[in-house]
Amino acid sequence: MSTPNESSPAPEAAHFIEERVLADRASGKHGGKLHTRFPPEPNGYLHIGHAKSICLNFGLAQRFGGLTNLRFDDTNPTTEEVEYVESIQRDVKWLGFDWDERLFFASSFFGQIYACAEELVQKGLAYVCDLGPEDMSRYRGSLTAPGTDSPFRSRSVAENLDLLRRMKAGEFNEGSHTLRAKIDMASPNFNLRDPVLYRILKKPHHRTGSTWCIYPTYDYAHPLCDAFEGITHSICTLEFENHRPLYDWVRDNCTVPAKPEQIEFARLNLTYTVLSKRKLLRLVNEKRVSGWDDPRMPTLTGLRRRGYTPEAIRTLCERVGVAKFNSTVEVVQLENALRDDLNKRAPRAMAVLRPLELVIENWPAGTTDELDAVNNPEDPAAGTRKVPFGQRLFIERDDFREDPPKDFYRLGPGREVRLRYAFFVTCTGFDKDPATGEVTRVRCTYDPATRGGNAPDGRKVKGTIHWVPAEQAVRAEVRLYDHLFAAEFPEDVPEGTDFLVNLNPRSLEVVADAALEPLLGTAAAGSRWQFERHGYFCADEQDSRPGKPVFNRSVSLKDSWAKIEKRQGGSSDGKPQGGKPGKGDKGGKPKAP
Ligand code: ATP
Ligand code: MG
Repeated sequence: MSTPNESSPAPEAAHFIEERVLADRASGKHGGKLHTRFPPEPNGYLHIGHAKSICLNFGLAQRFGGLTNLRFDDTNPTTEEVEYVESIQRDVKWLGFDWDERLFFASSFFGQIYACAEELVQKGLAYVCDLGPEDMSRYRGSLTAPGTDSPFRSRSVAENLDLLRRMKAGEFNEGSHTLRAKIDMASPNFNLRDPVLYRILKKPHHRTGSTWCIYPTYDYAHPLCDAFEGITHSICTLEFENHRPLYDWVRDNCTVPAKPEQIEFARLNLTYTVLSKRKLLRLVNEKRVSGWDDPRMPTLTGLRRRGYTPEAIRTLCERVGVAKFNSTVEVVQLENALRDDLNKRAPRAMAVLRPLELVIENWPAGTTDELDAVNNPEDPAAGTRKVPFGQRLFIERDDFREDPPKDFYRLGPGREVRLRYAFFVTCTGFDKDPATGEVTRVRCTYDPATRGGNAPDGRKVKGTIHWVPAEQAVRAEVRLYDHLFAAEFPEDVPEGTDFLVNLNPRSLEVVADAALEPLLGTAAAGSRWQFERHGYFCADEQDSRPGKPVFNRSVSLKDSWAKIEKRQGGSSDGKPQGGKPGKGDKGGKPKAP
């Protein structure tokens, strides 16, 4: 990332953090430099909330000519795993950012972090405390009552140093001793009431093995790592605002090479979504989803598998902006960012999810035509393709009604519709399974003069429906996803109630035997398409095979939930509602190319 051209005009600040960066630069603070970091704890996969932090940290450096480090905040060996370290790097890169050679681990600094602890002890600013967790919290006081000094607070420097070294050497059991900062047990800020700096944890660490049996706390290690890496602006979420005085205390009382500053911003929350790694881990462990990459998960790997583009996620982060107050963004904003992106880019294709056979009685038997279909009306350069057309087709079961109401503009006995890119057809009859009463076949005649979809006599039809040729159709599994949670704020549950009660029982519907246009048979894994009238779909990264594709619905064409709320109780023509295009009710007219 280069330094901006001296002569180019200074960029304007888009939010308060940019203002701060510009002001710091103008005043020459941090030597005029900008250096940020993204500091995930490798205890889970990254989610869309992390994307906001990634876009902010890397985006600032890109915009203002700075650097960004990737730092694994791996100070807790009990919850961290190599799998997470690897997935996090993959996901940051996928999102479109690069830390170059600046990959750091807090654990690489364990030696220096420990040296600072001895320094604090030497200065009389830290002590070894023998209180167990319960006593410690009792001594800490409450919101209204000041804390009480630990009986171990007045130990001599020599005794503290000896005890700290013995803690490090493994002489004591977990929970028996901690190293604490000596600050102020009466401080109105709880975080300053002699916070713990080191605790004993006799667990091997994924990078340092069994070298250490004491591990630094987040509040202690974070400012030190920032300083060691030369970070100038240490950006974190609002819940750390009250920790800032401690951040400053650690930075100012230890001998460190830089003076980073912590800045807080509001975290991203989304409706119908849970974004806490602990809760996401439960979904995985309790098999409520198929894994971290389940397409319903808000993880970056899940979103990718669902068909989300990095561009759409970056657009969302840009649109929601950077604020100082917490709020919840409607998940439809995320979906809209994807719709906007894929509308421009995704090639169109026809797919029949619930096939019903349509036979054209006056079609010359044994012959096939090839019709031109537009690949992307938003992108003229995308051109057209040929779709085979013959006597037997599949149409959507929903597009035929035995006894349709007047405002149903699709197919019914005696009615004429346009087959997209093909011909006008008129329904002459249908067959039924006598046992079940289910319609098994629709019979039609076609008007050869309407080839391409227009009648030379100027005759109009109200409905256009899509189709696939029965002989050449590719059969596929299609997975229709909906919100993983049915409640807008899934974590808002009464005391004692598990947030899992809010899981949406209909978040996944598997269509086992859809019929697709032939070209979809060779769709590359991960490729993204618009299935006309159905939405945007992506060939599943894991399960899709040439000739036997599996597609995930990334997003419907319109916000189907808003429509359901508006309609309150069902569509006029009795269609299932999930994920239908908004115009679909009345004939499902695809936009004219
Ligand atoms: P979670 O609450 O999901 O467990 P975390 O904050 O514990 O997340 P970290 O790995 O510590 O996860 O986060 C790395 C960085 O991402 C931190 O700087 C954190 O502030 C930021 N971050 C985490 N969640 C969000 C969010 N929802 N919105 C914005 N930034 C976030
Ligand atoms: Mg955290």
